[in-house]
Amino acid sequence: MGSKPILDPWSSEAVEDYQKVMEDFGIAKVAPDMVKRLGQHRLFRRNIVFSQRDLGRVLKAAEEKKPFAAMSGIKPSNIFHLGSKLVADELVAFQGLGARVFYCVADIESLHANGQPIEESVPIAVDNAADALALGIDPKTAFLYKQSACPAVQLMGYCYAKNVTNNMLRSIYGDKEIGLYMSALVQVGDILLPQTAEFGGLKPVVVPVGIDQDPHIRLTRDIAAKHGLVLPSSTYHKFMKSLTGDEKMSKSNPGGMITLSDSPEQAKKKVLASFTGGRNTVEEQRRLGGEPLKCTVYDLLVFHLEEDDAALKRTYDACTSGSLSCGDCKKAAAEKLAAFLRQHQEKKRKMLPVAEKMLTESSGA
Ligand code: SF4
Repeated sequence: MGSKPILDPWSSEAVEDYQKVMEDFGIAKVAPDMVKRLGQHRLFRRNIVFSQRDLGRVLKAAEEKKPFAAMSGIKPSNIFHLGSKLVADELVAFQGLGARVFYCVADIESLHANGQPIEESVPIAVDNAADALALGIDPKTAFLYKQSACPAVQLMGYCYAKNVTNNMLRSIYGDKEIGLYMSALVQVGDILLPQTAEFGGLKPVVVPVGIDQDPHIRLTRDIAAKHGLVLPSSTYHKFMKSLTGDEKMSKSNPGGMITLSDSPEQAKKKVLASFTGGRNTVEEQRRLGGEPLKCTVYDLLVFHLEEDDAALKRTYDACTSGSLSCGDCKKAAAEKLAAFLRQHQEKKRKMLPVAEKMLTESSGA
């Protein structure tokens, strides 16, 4: 028998084989009927959100107009990028189905996983929260907070640690330092927070994450089962390719990512210099067509920039038939990205004081 597979939620390495991870850990696909029930949001209908645990429970609550929550968060170790946007977009999609959104700035996790002191997270936390609000998280209903300023999630971490053994943590996370295990327990508190009496008690909660974060979901589900809570549901999204090539777009590879604070001109330059699925020469491109599924520019369109499926298909067909040049395609994508950033940055400016107020008001919760 081989050893039990370990998924490391603190590693910057991309998950290569989604199917294997799903089989190893019992994660199911997002079935076509679920996509319909999810309201055909871009992230679901394009299979960007491709797998789930217990999503049916959340959909049932939405259909029966019963309370449910959607929770996720961000480590304030850097500014918002298109990968963090994906999670916020999904929270907004669930908000549209009736979820109350909980958004956590995971500064305790940042301390342990990235060595970033809590005080250095303070301005970034406000910035991150303003990005999330500008993307559509509703300030009137959402609960935004920082782990370090929320005694409830810390206390839940301590209390739930009572039933967690060393062996259990090692089998989920591998051998890690105690601080990371402690931050994982605070995340259990984050995920279970919407079910506390203060927020209306037991309810379905969906946690949109990248598949590499599944260990936190498994730990929380184990603990929820032992304490008579509703087991949290989760959804898993694919990662965008980095603009420089194959690996996932992440904070650890700044040259390959677009942040929501990039100036429109900076972002355009990055797109114009990005790795594509184009051929070596114009003649070859015309003869063989490009390879959009290997292309970071096409990824940008699919994940973020092109809402219209018919227009996306036109780009795909023009690329593969060789009638579209990468130069023209990049220019069009760069303009779309610049327009999005201009609009987003304007909204974010207005949301900065709102974010600051929300984080202050949630302190001590
Ligand atoms: S034409 Fe566009 S989608 Fe096709 S490979 Fe070039 S940049 Fe990518």
